[in-house]
Amino acid sequence: MTDRRLTARRPRCDDSRVRTALLTLTLVPALAWPAEADAQRRPRNQPPPVIAVARPAERNRARRLGLGTRTAIETLLHDRPAANWVAAARGRPTRRFLWPVLNGIATQGFTAQEGRHQALDIGAPCGTPIRAGYSGIVGFSGAHGNSGNLLAIVHPGGWVTAYGHTRRTLVAAGSLVRRGQPIAEVGDTGDAHGCHVHFIVSRNGTRLDPEQHVVGRPTQVHRRSGAVASRH
Ligand SMILES: [Zn+2]
Repeated sequence: MTDRRLTARRPRCDDSRVRTALLTLTLVPALAWPAEADAQRRPRNQPPPVIAVARPAERNRARRLGLGTRTAIETLLHDRPAANWVAAARGRPTRRFLWPVLNGIATQGFTAQEGRHQALDIGAPCGTPIRAGYSGIVGFSGAHGNSGNLLAIVHPGGWVTAYGHTRRTLVAAGSLVRRGQPIAEVGDTGDAHGCHVHFIVSRNGTRLDPEQHVVGRPTQVHRRSGAVASRH
């Protein structure tokens, strides 16, 4: 039932803008990617898992808190996160989250109206690392209908960030992540026709415009040179 509701509500991301952004990004040099070391240790002919595999401590933490389930992701997307989830996300609350994709370009903005595009699309080549907007606990890491491979993080103060259409996730539900940590890779899974992140920011169940709550967004000038500057 819920998936149908999501299908009806969420308009398809505008892939023409994603394509335009990707053309721009072809000039950006490839990023160094720490997971390469992991890939080299993996036996040949064995592709990396699409969804991160939980370590025992993470699995136990997720089970104890009720994270990583279909119910949990519905709550994270539409309702106030549970108090014990927020308590598990240690640290001081912040209103400013790191721009999640280095050199990623905004391709479709936020619309406040419920049922419209209550997220920000950020275009970047598939495989580009996505980094955690802030420290917190991973509330969901898995396939979720139109959102594709979806990752959601609960942050201190009742904030939630979520990252949709990822090619693969790098952290499992129950993982404690730090600000800037690679958590997934840009992809086009689910209802997406270009490589981009469907980036959601919410607080206590209310969707907010991510562009009002980010730092470290690349400027036009720095984007051309491949470097990144903060815009506060
Ligand atoms: Zn989107």
